[in-house]
Amino acid sequence: MKNLEDFNNLDWDKQQGLLPAVVQNHLTGKVLMLGYMNQEALAQTLASGKVTFFSRSKQRLWTKGETSGNTLDLIAIDSDCDNDSLLVQVIPNGPTCHLERESCWPDGEAHPFIDNLANLIASRKGQDAKSSYTAHLFERGTKRIAQKVGEEGLETALAAATHDKEELINEASDLIYHLLVLLEDQDLSLEDVTANLLARHSAASK
Ligand code: AMP
Ligand code: ZN
Ligand code: ZN
Ligand code: ZN
Repeated sequence: MKNLEDFNNLDWDKQQGLLPAVVQNHLTGKVLMLGYMNQEALAQTLASGKVTFFSRSKQRLWTKGETSGNTLDLIAIDSDCDNDSLLVQVIPNGPTCHLERESCWPDGEAHPFIDNLANLIASRKGQDAKSSYTAHLFERGTKRIAQKVGEEGLETALAAATHDKEELINEASDLIYHLLVLLEDQDLSLEDVTANLLARHSAASK
């Protein structure tokens, strides 16, 4: 983690001593909120590991979560190209928006492509099997889908073993797609998996 000295080229004078600070979930990449930091807020954030802003409405330092308990654990801070804004990577404890939502922006805004793909796959469930390969797979059922995951896993491994990068990208794509279909078939989601990875990650970094 950086110290305050690592930020001594920040352009504080540009905006009356306040820099906009975009808060991003370190694990999902979702943009959670926007706050403002003065030098004191930045120093306190770095010292405490809990993200602290200067509240323009309260006109005082404000540690996010001080009343709600929904604090933001600091992972990293970076300044932008011209040193007049901050990107704050965090692990949030609970919803970041005071409206009890994960993000201050509507949920759909920052979904990674893979989430959209998983949603599209889910929407194919129960559709006409002649209309799409995904619908066809759902109709064939769990055994067939699981078999495809096994095949694609083997093909992925073989592509790596034969050092064929182009083939590896193709087979890894097949594998991820079929794995998403299998999860959906089992009424599980990518989020169940990422939550588990997150729990392991948190345990390992303690
Ligand atoms: P908290 O910091 O979560 O304890 O919330 C205290 C107060 O700060 C709330 O009542 C809101 O007025 C304000 N607040 C909390 N979260 C946000 C946010 N994400 N964006 C703007 N204001 C917030
Ligand atoms: Zn800038
Ligand atoms: Zn909000
Ligand atoms: Zn394949």
